[in-house]
Amino acid sequence: MKIAVIGGGLAGLTAAAYLSEQPTVTGVLFERSPQLGGRAFTYEKAGFTLNYGAHAVYGLDRHTISVMEKELQLSFGSRQVDKRKVMYEKHDQLSPAPLDFVNLMKTDILSPRQKMRFAAEITAIITNIHQLKHYPTLGHYLADSEADENVKELWEHLVCSNFFITPEDARKVPGHVISKYYHNLFLSQRPVNYILGSWAVITNQLKSKMEQSGRWELAMQEGVDGIRYEGGRYVLTTKLREESFDNIVFAMPVQQIIKLLNDTPWEPFMTPYANNKATEVMVYDVGLSQVVARPFSYISDMNNKLFITDVSATDHTLVPEGGQLLQGVAYLSDDFDTEQERKAYLDERTARMEALFDKHYPGWRDAIAVKRVSKKAMVQSVKNIAGNKLLPVRIENMPFYFCGDGCQGKGELAERAFSSARDAAAKLASAARAGLPELVGI
Ligand SMILES: Cc1cc2nc3c(=O)[nH]c(=O)nc-3n(C[C@H](O)[C@H](O)[C@H](O)COP(=O)(O)OP(=O)(O)OC[C@H]3O[C@@H](n4cnc5c(N)ncnc54)[C@H](O)[C@@H]3O)c2cc1C
Repeated sequence: MKIAVIGGGLAGLTAAAYLSEQPTVTGVLFERSPQLGGRAFTYEKAGFTLNYGAHAVYGLDRHTISVMEKELQLSFGSRQVDKRKVMYEKHDQLSPAPLDFVNLMKTDILSPRQKMRFAAEITAIITNIHQLKHYPTLGHYLADSEADENVKELWEHLVCSNFFITPEDARKVPGHVISKYYHNLFLSQRPVNYILGSWAVITNQLKSKMEQSGRWELAMQEGVDGIRYEGGRYVLTTKLREESFDNIVFAMPVQQIIKLLNDTPWEPFMTPYANNKATEVMVYDVGLSQVVARPFSYISDMNNKLFITDVSATDHTLVPEGGQLLQGVAYLSDDFDTEQERKAYLDERTARMEALFDKHYPGWRDAIAVKRVSKKAMVQSVKNIAGNKLLPVRIENMPFYFCGDGCQGKGELAERAFSSARDAAAKLASAARAGLPELVGI
């Protein structure tokens, strides 16, 4: 069986690495840009290692990357973010984020009675008896809940920070999604970790697996721009070639898949996914020539919905001797009538972000060695809120396979890319082993 994987991000590389273990499968991975990694692309600048998307892994011991570590014999180091230095700031008051029972007891954002209430909520999530899973959204649950406003705000803020979304969107996340996510996270012994050395440590190994198999080709700077069905096979076109395959794995953001399948016989299958909105944030990365302050590992501003991570406090491998790498992220609303309104909003978010840096990292402006600001970075191609529809790994009566962070799978963000890709590869591998012609051409 000859397979094409379109997209060389975390999802495409994962799918191809798994498939490269199948002796009867050959393949080509097409990547339109000059480098692999997609939104997890890593680059070096002035001695700093910068990621486009950050490399925090939530619930490492229960995460798909740990399954892949065993199955694909990956090797990587990781380090836990110091939970005692993860802070929430509310009305100028700093307090440990209630990530576990120890922090929960220490936090000042809840009264003793509210702490008991929140502890009971965590226990119910862990034991899987929380009513939240029966509610269409977090907002519906909170409206019904008799909890105090502070407890409701805490729920909302937790979801904002793990899903990278605004409070308005947090209220739209389905109850079953939240209860599953936090069931996993609260049970984890390793809630927030960094892969030491960035995502490149993973992507390099996935690439090596493909190359070592001798059955896979990497087609770099070859964006796929056309697809058709001909003679029982799928023909892909790029600016350099036309090649036919038995099956295709689409490993790109859902919006780009829809674009590629426009004006093909498969366009109608994509209609239910056409109105999905992506999760977008503003990212403010600064590499500093020296450590200007290290009051915490992570500070989340509850009033303004933005956070700063001292990435190098956990992953020291990313900075030159004595340097510091800070990443600011602001959740973004996507509801604007005019471009002017959107621009004013982004300017306001930037000013607030810089004010948060000024407050906790005095002197940061004078120590800047590297700076990268992106006012619109796509964290997840489909925001996991009611009204949006994640793309299944397979769509009934459609021949292709889909993976990426906009697809159905376990977890959110990069975990969704890994888990959907692993699933797509497993389905294709079992078809290849059974010798099934996985072709349902139109
Ligand atoms: C600011 C930010 C912070 C983040 N932080 C975290 C975090 O801490 N933890 C976490 O788990 N996740 C995080 N993420 C999310 C994570 O980076 C993404 O979920 C993940 O990288 C998505 O991988 P993917 O393979 O699904 O998609 P992509 O990375 O988008 O890969 C798709 C690839 O397909 C290629 N492509 C597209 N069209 C074509 C075509 N026609 N032909 C050939 N190639 C094509 C693209 O060039 C790209 O390389 C963050 C993201 C951002 C932006």
